[in-house]
Amino acid sequence: MTTGQPSTSVKSVCEPLIDGFGRVHRSLRISVTDRCNIRCQYCMPAFGAEFLPNERLLSFDQFANFVRVLAPLGINDLRITGGEPLMRPNLEQLIKMLSTIEGIDDLAITTNGMFLTEQIQRLVDAGLQRINISLDTLRESTFRTLARRNGLHDVLSGIAATKQFPHMTVRLNALVLRDLNMDEIIPLAEFARAQSLPLRFIEFMPLDAERAWNKSRMVSGTEVRQMLASKFGPLNPVPRKDSSQPSIDYAFADGQGIVGFIDSVTQPFCTSCDRLRLTAEGKMRNCLFGQEEWDMAELLKQEHLDEQRLVERVRACVARKKAAHGMEAPGFQPPQRAMFQIGG
Ligand code: SAM
Ligand code: SF4
Repeated sequence: MTTGQPSTSVKSVCEPLIDGFGRVHRSLRISVTDRCNIRCQYCMPAFGAEFLPNERLLSFDQFANFVRVLAPLGINDLRITGGEPLMRPNLEQLIKMLSTIEGIDDLAITTNGMFLTEQIQRLVDAGLQRINISLDTLRESTFRTLARRNGLHDVLSGIAATKQFPHMTVRLNALVLRDLNMDEIIPLAEFARAQSLPLRFIEFMPLDAERAWNKSRMVSGTEVRQMLASKFGPLNPVPRKDSSQPSIDYAFADGQGIVGFIDSVTQPFCTSCDRLRLTAEGKMRNCLFGQEEWDMAELLKQEHLDEQRLVERVRACVARKKAAHGMEAPGFQPPQRAMFQIGG
């Protein structure tokens, strides 16, 4: 990387990433692959998914260089995602590189959990701190319908494997589709409570590859809360530690466990959003629903990284961030990319 920039550029390199609405950006989601071993209905097409050729993916060095440039600008929270991030070979090498970058104090991964059993030891050794595992059902037949593949057993084994590492923060994420797994809300909560794992419900967003989203298929966080409260008693709000945290958390009435809600559709958290995203091929996005992307790959792939140009491009991306995702606005169009191509 280049060093020794003139003082003005050093200043521009160090100022925080603040958008036009005063939001300070601290969180970066990095997609390391668009490939996945399953085909969740709410994310990927059943057939014919087109994936990036390997040579278009950013290398681990390029991802790490990007983070090294952004960390002094205040990015301190990284989440590795995809596609299925554990399909990227030797992912622990990237984790190791990122975990040693000064300023990074939170390093997490979001995974479907199916490869965790074989990889968790390497990931922990490399410095991974937190794992979010997607779990939408406890029924194999529903898993097969929802993910269009078998695999629940592997997900559950992956969750069990995390128990060997009690210092890791593990959380379960569930997405409910009204026609498919609505009756799993209570069993999922019971499972999470029995496992002493926090569970979060995420509302279905219009980011599915088949463009089949409709509001009636989405189950709102409010509905889920009502169902849980009628089974387990009133949910008690847990004070937020971090205002940029999208999840609103509650404790169960008996004090056994936490349940969180990311109500991105019905109660958007855009006013406190501090996230930026980098796709697997190096496009930067300022919003899941944004229509614009900024090409970081062009700069990251140069032999000598022009740090100042990279920062300018990052700042341009941040500056163009809109006040809100606008899902409820007339004429709203979902982005060209589906969730697996952005990185959830
Ligand atoms: N493959 C990994 C996994 O499933 O956890 C990581 C990538 S996945 C795109 C990340 C998260 O996005 C998952 O928790 C998944 O449930 C969520 N997701 C995918 N499609 C979504 C959609 N249309 N609306 C809301 N969340 C979605
Ligand atoms: Fe794969 Fe995750 Fe998308 Fe499901 S949500 S298809 S596991 S990338």
